Amino acid sequence: MALKPFLLMMLDQATELCHRLASHGLVVASDGNASVRRGDGFYITCTLSEFETLTVEDWRWMPVTGAPTTGVSSEWRMHQVIFRHLPFVGAIVHCHPPYATSFAVKGEPLEGSLLTETGDLERIMVAKFAAPGSGALAKAVIDALGETGKACLLKQHGALTVGQNFRETVQRMERLERLAMVQWLVTRGYPAHPTPT
Ligand SMILES: [Zn+2]
Repeated sequence: MALKPFLLMMLDQATELCHRLASHGLVVASDGNASVRRGDGFYITCTLSEFETLTVEDWRWMPVTGAPTTGVSSEWRMHQVIFRHLPFVGAIVHCHPPYATSFAVKGEPLEGSLLTETGDLERIMVAKFAAPGSGALAKAVIDALGETGKACLLKQHGALTVGQNFRETVQRMERLERLAMVQWLVTRGYPAHPTPT
């Protein structure tokens, strides 16, 4: 696939940021997918692609409206519906970071106001459970994101962030996981100074 220089640079940067998510333990195996808007459609990672070893060749373009391209992530419906409903969204990241997923399993929202750097995320809602890859999950995610949403959790599944560009979207995922870690420690953490026995 011969790509124009700007496009190549964009996908190159997105690929590197996916490597970063994997190196920080936010994605393991092929348990994540990502997309970036381009023209009347978007580039999305291939099915079963692994973030740790992702390459520029692992991205496929598909339209915002219409049938998917062969080989795209099984979660393509969720990405397509978000791009269609939220015109300000330029990129999407979905993965299963451990602390955020713990809250997703519990069905408990994250409180962005706990940290200065996540204040803009406000309350991060939990999308109701639906089978991965289904149209029902895509609808549940739109409901949880709301009209100005930036992030949500997926019940018994994982987390999703959106942003104007790929870097902003990845940073939101990193901060969301840090927020989940802090919220876990604040609400369920062990005492800082255990009582001597
Ligand atoms: Zn998932």
